[in-house]
Amino acid sequence: MHQMTLAEIARGLADKKFSSEELTKALLARIAQLDPQLNSFISLTEELALSQAKAADARRAKGENGPLLGAPIAHKDLFCTQGIRTSCGSKMLDNFKAPYDATVVAKLAAAGTVTLGKTNMDEFAMGSANESSHYGAVKNPWNLEHVPGGSSGGSAAAVAARLLPAATATDTGGSIRQPAAFTNLTGLKPTYGRVSRWGMIAYASSLDQGGPLARTAEDCAILLQGMAGFDPNDSTSIDEPVPDYSASLNGSLQGLRIGVPKEYFGAGLDPRIADLIQNSIKELEKLGAVIKQISLPNMQHAIPAYYVIAPAEASSNLSRFDGVRFGYRCENPQNLVDLYKRSRGEGFGAEVQRRIMVGAYALSAGYYDAYYLKAQKIRRLVKNDFMAAFNEVDIILGPTTPNPAWKLGAKNSDPVAEYLEDVYTITANLAGLPGLSMPAGFVDGLPVGVQLLAPYFQEGRLLNVAHQYQLNTDWHTRTPQGF
Ligand code: GLN
Repeated sequence: MHQMTLAEIARGLADKKFSSEELTKALLARIAQLDPQLNSFISLTEELALSQAKAADARRAKGENGPLLGAPIAHKDLFCTQGIRTSCGSKMLDNFKAPYDATVVAKLAAAGTVTLGKTNMDEFAMGSANESSHYGAVKNPWNLEHVPGGSSGGSAAAVAARLLPAATATDTGGSIRQPAAFTNLTGLKPTYGRVSRWGMIAYASSLDQGGPLARTAEDCAILLQGMAGFDPNDSTSIDEPVPDYSASLNGSLQGLRIGVPKEYFGAGLDPRIADLIQNSIKELEKLGAVIKQISLPNMQHAIPAYYVIAPAEASSNLSRFDGVRFGYRCENPQNLVDLYKRSRGEGFGAEVQRRIMVGAYALSAGYYDAYYLKAQKIRRLVKNDFMAAFNEVDIILGPTTPNPAWKLGAKNSDPVAEYLEDVYTITANLAGLPGLSMPAGFVDGLPVGVQLLAPYFQEGRLLNVAHQYQLNTDWHTRTPQGF
């Protein structure tokens, strides 16, 4: 049962081969048995899951149908869930039960999904390895000594290990695509504004975007359909109609123009990954795509710009965690300043504190022009590069990451080394573009992802290309040993 995709589950439920309650019980048992090896969940919500499953079965019995009706999923633990701990991977919010559901959570629940739990993540979504969580590191099911990627490492490890078919995640600089690449999944970061951020705990508001993590493009289409759409509660959400993503999966790739940026293949890329990306290019050529070399000249400036903008926004967003209104409060504060200092000093981990300090510095009077403003100018140049490229091509293709998943602890003493691993993913966030990562092969038994980027609101095109690729390759069907 645990091998089924969302699409297969929907067919099985419609054909009455099993009930959502049976499936939910089977997956909860599997999580109890296998998750201790992975640590992919922060909270399990068995009671909620069983009541949602029963309700979904009752809706089906009354004749209702729908691809998500009765489908078990989990939410990254930064989506607010009413009455359920929403920790954001932080000691600061260990005791926080959200008083309301995030729009994404509410929309998916209305579509009939069953919430199995809340998944582990880097603290406040800051990281690329899922090692900064207050609840401990997540392990990669492909090799338990390696990281699963971050910050959505819990969602990725759980889906890759077949503990559940799909999960929600968020991507501020790559946190959907990079863990997808590291665990052999398909992950989609939508266009900025496509999915509501209301109730999604903010890290860097101009970059954060929620999206689906699943094993296939077909499943990403199903989950995205349930997440996307205008939300009057999120002023950055965009009032554009949501297309039928599943309907466009079977479009022909004949004549599709794929741009391959030369900057994506420079020094720093593992040559074995470069070879696998070339293979995926050949595969797409066989399907009728036309390959064109392009250039994104400002890509080299993206990491420094991102690591000014994201911490700057984080320092502002995280100022609300002051030990007064909600979240962690230190013991026996001597006075107000002591309360602030110790609550934040004890409640936030090292990486979060580092980013708050960098961000506050970059925003301070006298430095604002030199850092934040300059980074925003680079951001515009990065976007302009993409706009020029999309005049010539329909899709941009390259590696998702320069290296496969590294060993747990390997980069702990060098945060900048970890930042550099985001080189191929952060540009899409700076420009607000949609991006997808899909399985492209293995290096030393560890999965490798190929990344596709498309113009604004062309999620359907990304899913179409990925689905056609997956009909003709079998990387995405490989299962980690022991799971
Ligand atoms: N690795 C990046 C960071 O640490 C991206 C994280 C994310 O997308 N949430 O900021």
